[in-house]
Amino acid sequence: MQVTVITLFPELIRSVIQIGVLGRAVERGQVQVEAVSPREFASDARRTVDDRPFGGGPGMVMKVEPTRSAVRAAIADLPVGSRRIYLGADGVPLTQAKVAELAALPGMVLLAGRYEGVDERLLSTEVDETISIGDYVLSGGELPALVLIDAVVRTLPGVLGDEESALQDSFMTGLLDWPHYTRPEELDALKVPDVLIGGNHEAIRRWRLKQALGRTWLRRPDLLAAKTLNAEEQTLLAEFKSEQAG
Ligand code: SAM
Repeated sequence: MQVTVITLFPELIRSVIQIGVLGRAVERGQVQVEAVSPREFASDARRTVDDRPFGGGPGMVMKVEPTRSAVRAAIADLPVGSRRIYLGADGVPLTQAKVAELAALPGMVLLAGRYEGVDERLLSTEVDETISIGDYVLSGGELPALVLIDAVVRTLPGVLGDEESALQDSFMTGLLDWPHYTRPEELDALKVPDVLIGGNHEAIRRWRLKQALGRTWLRRPDLLAAKTLNAEEQTLLAEFKSEQAG
């Protein structure tokens, strides 16, 4: 996959993509991430990329021309079928289903806004969709772009050492993840649940599924409402609820 981020702070993108799972994927060539500034496309001596908003009010707005040139140059360099995405608080939410959809693309241009945002005419002509990473406002689209890249790249084949670990993550099956433990077995008064030490794989599988169902029921009932539970899941959730009540 090839990704180009259009940003006024390319160094922010470049520094983060060197680290951890993402860094390894970049190193191995499983993903290519470029960062380009609209300033490179500004035609005046001061390399102006923003201007005051029509209608007045506080803040500045990213101008169309330099950003449009940057988006056009970026998409021309990416494989056919690549998508142009603006990161904006007013976009569709980034969910695991959306991540899976994006992971199937050959490439993406990610446009990170700054100031009050980007001139609407650019968004309506040069962008395929707007994606939000949550119902809060950040100072710029760089962190959202990095969140999106990280979420997508870790699902690409061969990126995670253990493919299973992605399949078991929260949201992959419409549930939150179950609790994890490592050594020591006992810490102060807190013991690891006996079932995890017993070595009975079927009992461990059932316990984990029960915890995932219970945790989702407690913390994200909206996820549970959207999922159809099979007979085993219904039984385990009922067990979890009665254990909670007792
Ligand atoms: N005036 C905008 C609004 O109320 O929606 C906020 C602009 S914000 C200060 C600057 C930039 O941060 C935006 O252009 C967008 O690219 C990015 N941004 C802020 N919050 C975001 C979010 N929740 N998801 C994605 N991008 C976001």
